[in-house]
Amino acid sequence: MREVLSKLIDLQKIDSQLMDIEELKGDLPAEVARLDKQLDSLSAGISESKVEIEELGSKQRRLEAEVSDTEETVKKYQDQLILVSTNRAYDALMAEIDTAKRSAESDGMQALEIEEKIQHLTEQVKADEIALKEKTGLFAKHQKSLQQTIEETEVEATRLAGERKRVESKIDSSIYQNYERMRGAHNGEAVVEMSRGSCGSCFSELPAQLSADIRAMNSIISCPTCGVILYHSAE
Ligand SMILES: [Zn+2]
Repeated sequence: MREVLSKLIDLQKIDSQLMDIEELKGDLPAEVARLDKQLDSLSAGISESKVEIEELGSKQRRLEAEVSDTEETVKKYQDQLILVSTNRAYDALMAEIDTAKRSAESDGMQALEIEEKIQHLTEQVKADEIALKEKTGLFAKHQKSLQQTIEETEVEATRLAGERKRVESKIDSSIYQNYERMRGAHNGEAVVEMSRGSCGSCFSELPAQLSADIRAMNSIISCPTCGVILYHSAE
């Protein structure tokens, strides 16, 4: 058991060092992923807006053509007014002119509304493009810094990973699984040094006999309160 315990202590030391390396990267991996997502959605939004601007533009041009056609028609009708001989024909033509004018007015209003929409969208696209540029710069900066940290720590991380595998292979799988479970539940700490008769993780005082057993280092003993494996270091 003494040997198993010492292997577990080794494993914990390796895992703590690996955790330190992860911590060096800090929030960078999450930040890089978050920015990457934002960049995607910004780009998609800009593309969508540009398509919409195109569509609105052609609709606006259609309406404006419609307006000038109608205005032509109105002019033609007005020219015809002097040629009509009856009141009835005159009234009918006036009614046509009225309808045409109203239609041109409504088309003109619609074209104006569309123009406002286009203007709004264009401003939005401009702002989004500025944001995109800024975020792209930030993304590149974070990514570079993350890459640097990875490169700087890679040799050490690889060495530790190899060492970890070697130690792990010497530990009974059920004990190893228990270790991993404990590590998951205690922020990466499964094997903790006893500190002045108390658990080094939850700091609860240990019964005298238990603390003596831990000192003896002959068996794997868990803290009765939090469950971490406790050991005693002679140093
Ligand atoms: Zn404890």
